[in-house]
Amino acid sequence: MPTYFCPVCWTASREDEPICRHCGAEIGRIQDGKSYAQRLADALHHPEPTTPLRVALVLGLRRELGAVGALGACARETDDLYLCLECLTALARIGTPAAWAAVASLVSDPRRVVAGRARALLDRRGPEAR
Ligand SMILES: [Zn+2]
Repeated sequence: MPTYFCPVCWTASREDEPICRHCGAEIGRIQDGKSYAQRLADALHHPEPTTPLRVALVLGLRRELGAVGALGACARETDDLYLCLECLTALARIGTPAAWAAVASLVSDPRRVVAGRARALLDRRGPEAR
């Protein structure tokens, strides 16, 4: 049986709970109209530290176009270096112009390993992506 989580406070909930028992968020209203990619991308902020890593991996493997903005924002804002690098890899896998623009926005990142990975990914792009 799958576990559901409140998208605001990440407390475990039941699938049919419209209001979060912990924080009072209107779960149904928040999730209404969101695509699978958007719901999955919300979990880039999940407090359990390995969940965002798996989410970034899955978003990249699925080439979720709707997650480019969330992956780019996460890469820029997270303090977790591993998550940042996983977001960059996912963006490269998605490979749209917007995804590559998000990668390019990190080539001057003060974190040297991030800037280096962004440059390496851009250098490895196929000629069709340039
Ligand atoms: Zn909640």
